[in-house]
Amino acid sequence: MKRREFGKIGLLAGAGAFTGCSTPPDGTSGTFSAAMDFYQEPARKLPTREFDVVVAGGGTAGVVAATAAARTGAKTALIEAKGYPGGTVTEGGTAIHSYYNLWKAFPGVGKRQVVRGIPSELIDRMLLLGATTGHAEMERGFDYDSVCTALDTELYKLVAFEMLAEAGVFVAVNTMAAGAVTEGKTVRGVIVESRSGREVFLGRSFVDCTAYGDLAAHAGAEFTVPGDYDSCNSVGLGNVDMDDYYAFLNEHDAVGQLARGLRSGKPGQIVRLSGRDVNLPDEFREEAGKIGMSTTTTTTYDNYLMFVKFNYKVEGSVVNRDDMAKAELVLRQRQIRGLELFRKFLPGCRNAFIARTSPSVNIRRGRLITCDYDITHEDVVEARHFADEVFVYGFHDSAPALQVKDGGTYGIPYRALCVRGIDNLFVSGMMITSDHRAHMSTRNTVSSMAQGQAAGTAAALCASGDMGSRDLPYGKLRDRLEKDGVYFES
Ligand SMILES: Cc1cc2nc3c(=O)[nH]c(=O)nc-3n(C[C@H](O)[C@H](O)[C@H](O)COP(=O)(O)OP(=O)(O)OC[C@H]3O[C@@H](n4cnc5c(N)ncnc54)[C@H](O)[C@@H]3O)c2cc1C
Repeated sequence: MKRREFGKIGLLAGAGAFTGCSTPPDGTSGTFSAAMDFYQEPARKLPTREFDVVVAGGGTAGVVAATAAARTGAKTALIEAKGYPGGTVTEGGTAIHSYYNLWKAFPGVGKRQVVRGIPSELIDRMLLLGATTGHAEMERGFDYDSVCTALDTELYKLVAFEMLAEAGVFVAVNTMAAGAVTEGKTVRGVIVESRSGREVFLGRSFVDCTAYGDLAAHAGAEFTVPGDYDSCNSVGLGNVDMDDYYAFLNEHDAVGQLARGLRSGKPGQIVRLSGRDVNLPDEFREEAGKIGMSTTTTTTYDNYLMFVKFNYKVEGSVVNRDDMAKAELVLRQRQIRGLELFRKFLPGCRNAFIARTSPSVNIRRGRLITCDYDITHEDVVEARHFADEVFVYGFHDSAPALQVKDGGTYGIPYRALCVRGIDNLFVSGMMITSDHRAHMSTRNTVSSMAQGQAAGTAAALCASGDMGSRDLPYGKLRDRLEKDGVYFES
């Protein structure tokens, strides 16, 4: 289309939309390049709102970060692209890993809850609603999980929402963090987009919990996109019988992982189960392999397999819209093929249906943001502790092959959450730790939540003292974290 034609259509559309409006619609006064390969937007005045702390991304880490910041006294905003808080906890993982050290693989080592504070409070609230399996100990596959804590993901969204409201957080859902306003090495605001228009949320300290590192990237942080994991869209299968499914696996000596806990309000029920593929029918195994299906599931209800995962290696980049559009389609096609497999081969699943899918593809890692410290594989497996640590953690996804030494813990240093080269920006969640093996520990949900508590608290303290992230005295942060229930080993 030639430039003149395009301009004409734009004007016509603009004239139609303008009827009855007091202000002209956006885009009527910009200009196109001669080759029509870009459009220069007109300058616009954006309304501002002022906060002490702005958290971008209301998922696993962001819910806790915003709650912690608000409870520390900061006027806090949380920006979440979807209509609810919760993130990958409610969409991707089978169970949340882990509040405990991996003690079972180490005779003589005691079980201890090493992540406490706000992440623990979330589970206590879920327990009151009967919306979690509780901390169910693994009977099989124990060296991997030790404890399986699964949640009713729909109620989790509500509990997280209520917790944010009680803390006084300004929660902007259905709102994208779409840009950053910076001044030298300082972030001044987040440009947000919603149906209420384009605005700037000004702040003194910022926390990026978007998983993709959107805010940090907009603010000019250094990053890479490792592309080292499969992406996933999981389904919840309804109208199944967990006990029949278990009986079938047992009969074929195919039970992989097993845990019992609270299910539909009854204790001692099977809440985590996986099939050892080796003993399942060939057709099932081969087809499951082709569609990246994992039979590991958890449940909080009798007739529900809450998570059946379908994996796909994105061709291209997880931060490219078009590559991800293909992933969205492929994964939905895989889910239907997976449902057929469950119906055909697994007793208890003959009349299953897809009761839930993730609203969009879940990534295991997007942008990796460069921070002042990069946690290494050795830090994790050697159980290293740091003078500036903000919590301790003991779980590793690759156990038993990779474990924290002697069933202990390692520390997460404050520096690992401070974005290199930017004075007042923190990150939390899957965006930290470049080493793939170390990331198999730090990326887990309970670690992401604890990172959120540390970053949100630090952001609030920095805002109240009008200081950058590197000027915050560690003692002040540590005192506050301990007061708020965070557990340290020394
Ligand atoms: C398939 C899968 C299975 C997993 N299994 C487990 C498991 O069994 N156990 C376990 O402990 N861990 C598991 N993990 C890992 C763990 O779930 C994640 O690493 C962790 O939840 C990441 O938390 P996060 O806060 O970084 O991201 P998220 O929880 O994804 O939060 C990011 C939030 O930011 C929002 N957002 C993104 N961009 C923007 C933007 N520009 N503006 C506004 N909002 C934005 C998103 O909507 C989302 O709510 C799994 C991960 C995946 C993907």
